Parts: sequence; C-alpha cells; structure tokens
Amino acid sequence: MPRKARRSPATNAVLVAGGAGFLGSYLCERLIGEGWRVVCLDSFRTGASENLRPLEREPRFSLIEADVCEPLPSSIKVDRIFNLACPASPRHYQADPIHTLLTSVLGARNLLDLARANGARLVQASTSEVYGDPDQHPQRETYWGNVNPIGIRACYDEGKRAAETLCFDYMRQHEVDVRVARIFNTYGPRMRPDDGRIVSNLIVQALKGRPLTVYGTGEQTRSFCFVTDLIDGLYRLMDIEANPRAPINIGNPEEYTINELARLVTELTGSASPIVYEPLPSDDPQWRRPDITSARTVLGWSPSTSVRQGLAATIAWFNAANAEERERGLALRPMGLTFRTPAIAGALG
Ligand code: NAD
Ligand code: UDP
Repeated sequence: MPRKARRSPATNAVLVAGGAGFLGSYLCERLIGEGWRVVCLDSFRTGASENLRPLEREPRFSLIEADVCEPLPSSIKVDRIFNLACPASPRHYQADPIHTLLTSVLGARNLLDLARANGARLVQASTSEVYGDPDQHPQRETYWGNVNPIGIRACYDEGKRAAETLCFDYMRQHEVDVRVARIFNTYGPRMRPDDGRIVSNLIVQALKGRPLTVYGTGEQTRSFCFVTDLIDGLYRLMDIEANPRAPINIGNPEEYTINELARLVTELTGSASPIVYEPLPSDDPQWRRPDITSARTVLGWSPSTSVRQGLAATIAWFNAANAEERERGLALRPMGLTFRTPAIAGALG
C-alpha cells in the first residue's frame, strides 16, 4: 500500500537545485518574476556566481551552497522543487564521471525525499540523452532508447535514466507528484564559453577568428531550443494541475546538421574562420529531434524562437560580454559566492 506524501501548508517557495547553472539561473529569474520565493541550491561545480548577479539584491531570493549528493537540510520548506543539478556538457560531465552518475542518482533520491517530506511537487530535468544513439526518429516519449551502458556518455545517460526510474517509483510507491521533462539541446546567453558544447564552441571560435571545430563528418544532427522557450516549458510542466504521469519532451524540432549550424554561425557572425574536421567522440548520437506532440497537447507549449533568431541573440551576448575576458573570469573566479537574504529564514523554516 503506497503511503501518501505529506501535505504541508503553502510556503510559496520553490527550491531550484542547480539554480546557478545556465538553465537554472533563468529559471530562478522566471520564478521570481512570477511572484515565488526562490531558494537556489548549488555546489557551483559548473555553475557561476555571475549567473545569479541579477538576483543578488532580490529579497525573495536566497542561496544554499551544497552538493545534492549529500543529505539536504531537513529545515528546507518549499512547495515546489526543480532538480536541475547535474553538469550538462559532455566535457564537464565526463571530467568526473563517477560524481556525475552519483549526482543524478543520489541527487534525485535526496530531492525526492525532500519533496515527499514537504508534500511538494517536483520537476526532474531529464534529457534527450535517455534515448542514447536513437534508432527511431524523431524521438517520442514512448521510445525506450539505445544507450551504451559502459561508454563515456553512460555516466550522464544512465544516471538520468536511473533518476527517471526513481521519479516514477516515488510516484507509484509514495504518491509524490513528480513530473519529468526530457530536455533537448538548449542554448543561449550565459552558456559558458569553455563548456565545449557545439553552440558556444562555434560562436567563440567564429568571434575569435579561430577555425570552427566540427567532429566527424558534421552530418550528425541536433535540434536546438532557445533558453527562454525551454524555461517556459519547464515552468508550465510544474504549473499544470494534472500530473501527466509520463515524461514530456521539451525542445525545438528545428533540426540542423552540425555542418549547417557551422555555416549559419559563420553567416551570422560574418566570420572568415574555416571549418576543421576532428575525430567524432565515441557514442556520439547520429541524429536527434524531439516529437513535441505531448508538450503541445498537455502543456500548450511550443517554442517561439527560431534557431536563426536565438543564435543572433546569443552571438550578440557573447560579443558584448567579450568572450575572452568572460572565459578567464569564469574559470578563475571562486564559485563560492554565497549570499543569504532575509527570505532564506522563511524558506528554511
Ligand atoms: P549547467 O552545468 O550550467 O548547470 C548545472 C548546475 O548544477 C550548475 O550550477 C552546477 O554547479 C550544479 N550542480 C552540478 N552538480 C551538482 C551537485 N552534485 N550538487 C549541487 N549542484 C550541482 O547545465 P545546464 O545546461 O544549466 O543544465 C541544467 C539541467 O538541465 C541539467 O540537469 C542537465 O542535465 C539538464 N539538461 C540540459 C540540457 C541543455 O542543453 N542545457 C539538455 C538536457 C538536459
Ligand atoms: N560538436 C562538434 N564540434 C564541437 C563540439 C561539438 O562537432 O566543437 C558536435 C558533437 O560531436 C555532437 C554535436 O556537435 O555531435 C553536439 O554536441 P554537444 O556537445 O553540444 O551536445 P550533445 O552531443 O550532448 O548533444
């Protein structure tokens, strides 16, 4: 007999684990804008204090520096939890693969326990990587995927798959209100220039006049979603009353080969950089495009920013921010800026 998650009085507070990261910082801002009190929990492993600067003086925002693998303070009182805590770029998640796997699994377990104790709703940031190197195209949520369980991407892919399993087991066994978003490649301002992902790499290379690195033949595809569209999808998934009780793809079905993307970045930056071809990393998925029928019908969501528009905005941001200075600043700055605002007292009980 499943035991029901405990209902607690409304705190009007949301916990964003991984809130100092690329996506998480936008989510924190969106939530503050919607009137929530936001508690950001982050280890700053790949996050940056710069991302949170716009919220530094916001009285309804507070920050806890912690690792989701460790037991979480039981004093945290929130109505909603977003779990975004996990490095997302292959370069970062492969730097410490054991910790990546544990972050997904132990992090999900700890946050699900917290959701259960608080009677809170939880949104898990899962990924299109659960489909691995897919042999179905586009990818629908009913597809079980094709993942190499012992390859260099497995720490991320299998960690996220196990986290999804935990989410659905907590839903069945403990009636926790869990929702799972399968996020496809997302890009935008605030991506780290050194994170090794294709959009940031191409833009930084083009702006610096360096050769654009394309791995393999460049005929593999990805589908790119602009960050604010993605955040809107996550927000809606949390906000709908009826739990979909199934994962939902959130991404932009606009699909590009990496060669096409490199040509578009060249055009939009006016760069004269040549393309250089480098070896394809192992297990690199050959194609990826979300079927977003569920997101359209269940959430009333679809992306509104074209890749051309989104890339232009991202290029403008990298340009204005001076990519080189930003890279040095983010790499060297201690990630431990911890500021506690009065709001934390309430959120922590
Ligand atoms: P990111 O690396 O910028 O953000 C991750 C954040 O989590 C960082 O602030 C990092 O410091 C924090 N973090 C990592 N390990 C932690 C730990 N053990 N304890 C506490 N905090 C920890 O990545 P992102 O692009 O913002 O991705 C956010 C989430 O969305 C991730 O869960 C990722 O798997 C998922 N996702 C992102 C994409 C994408 O294209 N950006 C695609 C699919 C899924
Ligand atoms: N890629 C590339 N050049 C780069 C970085 C990435 O050709 O400088 C390729 C990579 O091999 C993959 C695609 O671009 O096929 C997307 O890579 P990214 O790391 O952004 O995301 P993911 O592989 O996790 O979807």
